[in-house]
Amino acid sequence: MKKTEIAVVGGGPAGMSAALAAAAQGAKVSLFDSAREHLGGQLIKQTHRFFGSEKENAGTRGIEIRAMLEKEILENENIDVHMDSTVLSIYYGNEIGVEEKNTYDIWKYDKLVVATGASEKMLPFTNNDMPGVYGAGAVQTLMNVYGVTPGKRVLMIGSGNIGLIVSYQLMQAGVKVAAIVEALPNIGGYRVHASKVRRMQVPILTSHTVLKAYGDETVEGAVICEIDDKFQPVPGTEQNIECDIICLSVGLSPLTELMWPVGCKMKYVPALGGNVPLRDEKMETTTEGIYVAGDASGVEEATAAMIEGKIAGLSAAAALGYDNNYEALYNEYVNDIRILRSGPTGAKIRQGLAQLREV
Ligand SMILES: Cc1cc2nc3c(=O)[nH]c(=O)nc-3n(C[C@H](O)[C@H](O)[C@H](O)COP(=O)(O)OP(=O)(O)OC[C@H]3O[C@@H](n4cnc5c(N)ncnc54)[C@H](O)[C@@H]3O)c2cc1C
Repeated sequence: MKKTEIAVVGGGPAGMSAALAAAAQGAKVSLFDSAREHLGGQLIKQTHRFFGSEKENAGTRGIEIRAMLEKEILENENIDVHMDSTVLSIYYGNEIGVEEKNTYDIWKYDKLVVATGASEKMLPFTNNDMPGVYGAGAVQTLMNVYGVTPGKRVLMIGSGNIGLIVSYQLMQAGVKVAAIVEALPNIGGYRVHASKVRRMQVPILTSHTVLKAYGDETVEGAVICEIDDKFQPVPGTEQNIECDIICLSVGLSPLTELMWPVGCKMKYVPALGGNVPLRDEKMETTTEGIYVAGDASGVEEATAAMIEGKIAGLSAAAALGYDNNYEALYNEYVNDIRILRSGPTGAKIRQGLAQLREV
């Protein structure tokens, strides 16, 4: 059996920050990520300049933040990195099962940080399994990681920041965006992103949804329609949109599967993306020694994921007795996340966290 002091599952911004914070305290950390080549999680495809907090590199491109954190990790003697390594299960008795390349090992840990991120949500409509229906994350990976455009004319579903940013990136890559369809009466993302796509003549149709995809073998078009205030289709408002790609950007769900079997108590909180683990102010779940950070704890942003990762990694190391200026750092990170979530853009998260704390 292999052993580590702190195991971190997931090498996105949350997991990388957790590993660095714990290692800076002096703890020995093992970081596991399913990706084959590069740490970074979602950041590997985010070529745009980040919004968020200046201290956490807002204004810098996601791919540059990724490279900076990866370099720090690879140079850190306290961290051993395991790529192409999927944590398949957590067991009682502080053990995890890891499939690393073609081998399977049980690792014993003293503390564990789960930073597995989130998965894309699906939408029910006729023919939603037809080739040509993509998630926005997949489209971004195809274009920004592999340099492949998914098609020629896209219908985007969802006007949150992800839908708006991916629409803009599609147009930068020479793909036409026929329209952006949004079920809510208002655009979900920041005005700065919406203005950019509107300036490029893309209509954003609020209070609309997609009814069906059609085509012989792959998508050749979609039928959309208006919806009323109960989200029901308004008869007679159907219209055809010619497109070869329907791109879904309708939210993310926290990836919490690993934590259920070891008794981490969960609560369904829509404002945080779905089921999320209860945790204390140190990001420790209800199962002692298991911490959570990033989108796995509630879908938010990379900035928040990085700060939560620092709180989780630092606290896990402190629980093992490490103290390298612990208290000052802990207070600093808690203050950073409080500031990040203050103001109107943090309202949804604040509401979700308040609901999570209700008994
Ligand atoms: C299009 C788009 C634009 C965005 N723009 C911004 C922005 O401008 N500013 C901002 O702050 N945020 C932005 N975000 C959000 C941000 O990317 C996420 O909030 C952030 O990446 C979450 O970090 P994370 O570490 O929790 O998860 P992720 O980045 O998803 O990383 C999770 C990692 O865990 C690994 N993993 C999962 N399960 C396992 C397992 N069982 N074993 C081993 N490894 C596992 C995955 O391979 C992955 O590498 C954007 C997101 C998208 C999709």
